[in-house]
Amino acid sequence: MDRSATSRQGTSIGAYQAKRDFTTTSEPPPGHGKHAGGSPMFVVQKHRAHRAGLHWDFRLEHDGVLWSWAVRRGPSMDPADKRLAAHVEDHPIDYAEFQGHIPEGQYGAGDVETWDRGTWEPVTDPDAGLRDGELKFRLHGTRLNGGFVLVRLRPRSNRQSEQDNWLLIKEHDRFVQAGGDADVLEAAAPTLKTPAKR
Ligand code: MN
Repeated sequence: MDRSATSRQGTSIGAYQAKRDFTTTSEPPPGHGKHAGGSPMFVVQKHRAHRAGLHWDFRLEHDGVLWSWAVRRGPSMDPADKRLAAHVEDHPIDYAEFQGHIPEGQYGAGDVETWDRGTWEPVTDPDAGLRDGELKFRLHGTRLNGGFVLVRLRPRSNRQSEQDNWLLIKEHDRFVQAGGDADVLEAAAPTLKTPAKR
């Protein structure tokens, strides 16, 4: 299987680059796509976007890029909260470090802060999962922990949608918190753990 074609089809770093003017925004340009060993990271960035509105960008490091979904209502630790997650273009690894302001006129203009960060481990083959629309994994973060699944929704046949919509769902395990939506999780853990050295 050609992994790069599978994981980057329609969501390449090229798409990331084309949307941004790196002389204006302080977001990182595509760079070296490697970090030094250790478990792959995940990051969730709370993004107060002026046009698109508040959402949480959920990113999983894989094969030198960050697979990315925009989660409108934010992640939840309650399996009953199935969160719509729009699959968006892959982001460079360095984007995990980005916090701050995206200037007016730029794609995603608004403010970005790190909302959670840690490591992730796939439960099933991640490339097959992304291709087939069911990605199971475990997170080890401050606010998010344990099993999750991302499931792709079938596009409505009567409508041409540009969005590749998935659902982000907490799986049943000892980490479940009934009613544990993004606001509750943030209030319960106001500061993030320092990421472990890798
Ligand atoms: Mn965003």
